[in-house]
Amino acid sequence: MGSTKYVFVTGGVTSSLGKGIVSASLGRLLQARGYKVTIQKLDPYINVDPGTLNPYEHGECYVTDDGAETDLDLGHYERFLDIQTSQANNVTTGRIYQSVINKERKGDYLGKTVQVIPHITDEIKRRVTFLGRKKEYDFIITEIGGTVGDIESLPYIEAVRQLRWDLGVENTAFIHLTLVPYLAASGELKTKPTQHSVKVLLENGIQPDVLVLRSEHELNKDLRKKVALFCNVEQDAVIQSIDVSTIYEVPLLMQEEGLDAMVLKKLKMPFEEAPDLKEWKKFVDRLQSSKKEIRIALVGKYVELNDSYKSILESFTHAGAVNNVKVKVVFVHSEEVSEKNVSEKLAGYDGILVAPGFGDRGIDGKILAVTFARENKVPFLGICLGLQCAIIEFGRNVLGFEDAHSTEMNSRTKHPVIDLMEEQKGITEMGGTMRLGGYACSLEKGSLVEEAYGTALVRERHRHRYEFNNDFLESYKEHGMVPTGINPENGLVEIMEQPGHPWFVGTQFHPEYRSTVLNPHPLFIAFIKAAIENKK
Ligand code: GLN
Repeated sequence: MGSTKYVFVTGGVTSSLGKGIVSASLGRLLQARGYKVTIQKLDPYINVDPGTLNPYEHGECYVTDDGAETDLDLGHYERFLDIQTSQANNVTTGRIYQSVINKERKGDYLGKTVQVIPHITDEIKRRVTFLGRKKEYDFIITEIGGTVGDIESLPYIEAVRQLRWDLGVENTAFIHLTLVPYLAASGELKTKPTQHSVKVLLENGIQPDVLVLRSEHELNKDLRKKVALFCNVEQDAVIQSIDVSTIYEVPLLMQEEGLDAMVLKKLKMPFEEAPDLKEWKKFVDRLQSSKKEIRIALVGKYVELNDSYKSILESFTHAGAVNNVKVKVVFVHSEEVSEKNVSEKLAGYDGILVAPGFGDRGIDGKILAVTFARENKVPFLGICLGLQCAIIEFGRNVLGFEDAHSTEMNSRTKHPVIDLMEEQKGITEMGGTMRLGGYACSLEKGSLVEEAYGTALVRERHRHRYEFNNDFLESYKEHGMVPTGINPENGLVEIMEQPGHPWFVGTQFHPEYRSTVLNPHPLFIAFIKAAIENKK
């Protein structure tokens, strides 16, 4: 294998241009040519990780197998590339400063003045090249969060500028994403914002090799020519990224536009042959051709922002394609569900999912949704807090523990059916103190989950503090809510089912973090199957 190639992806003009999807698409295309690829995200905010960020502001926090709380773009990387990412794939300014300051306190800088250049930039460079140190990858794609010109992004831009010289021109490529807005009044597409954005990059010492222009309309030859001329790139290196109905079409469009070929050309690698996208196309075809619709109610409290439940939504898309149905997910705000309106709010759905979450708000609505699903035999999937709600509901309404609760919401309940483990009780800090990442789970023979997975031992990712309180296990088992997934090392309950019900599954872990296009998650597939049955 030759030396590792580094591709840097920056964005200009506005945020939300889909840098993550374009990076993931490029990764997929290179992978489809037989290369080993990984992707990394550099986030310019000062939080050490996104674990403490509000989902309303930042969307879902994605969790990797090694227990890192990361940006949701890592979810796209895993879903598109079917790879496992890790802590090293997400770096924030907070983390960079934390390590530089720790080194300074230890005296590692030998009395030198510690500065943004070179100390912060060196730390950034170390983190970027860290993934390449074992020579496992042919390509490392690094997406730089934020927008060029922001104060926060400057050290990152400077670091990758230096990397071009450290690693060699033929080993580095720069892709810059911008927006080409359409002015309805004059009926024109405008390239000026792109020109300005490239100018800012040039001022910072970076000449982009490829421009990806996000646009609502087709870009014609003349426009591309103009952009190429003003921005100092080849005409074929001006790539359009037009709005599409599903993000999963983007790799196909990027291939048609020649993004991968252009990057390979810049890196002096063979680019003539086309990547093998058979499987991917099959998936996109299924996605677009399924006619039957299945309606799932997603009961949660972060429903104002789609991104808060990103991985769950994508898992449904994958599982729908497998089952040849369109899965329409309807958000039901848990705070708006009351005893009076629950049967009206949840009527007519083929399945109900109670979402993960933290804190007291909206908890009653979630518990009511569980009662509705249990009593009306609607296929049910509870994830993390969703399982905990199912346990509380069963405790209250079947076992007769009137005050059954999680100690997260009621620390004085006489029936703490969900509780902290002893060793967690002293922890007061919020950041990085949960049970995080992959743990083993052994499945009960003959259970719904064993049937779904088709294996006896699985590994799934966690992000929570509280657990089912095993002191109550016997009562639950006796009355028909049974553990069907157990952590083989410590006996913690990971999955519960209600055998009298057509499909009732709650998981303490988050299956949604592991669903990918090429490996859709078995539990989501089985849940949708059950929803289809229910519809019949
Ligand atoms: N709040 C619950 C806990 O900490 C559930 C967390 C979650 O749903 N991710 O255990």
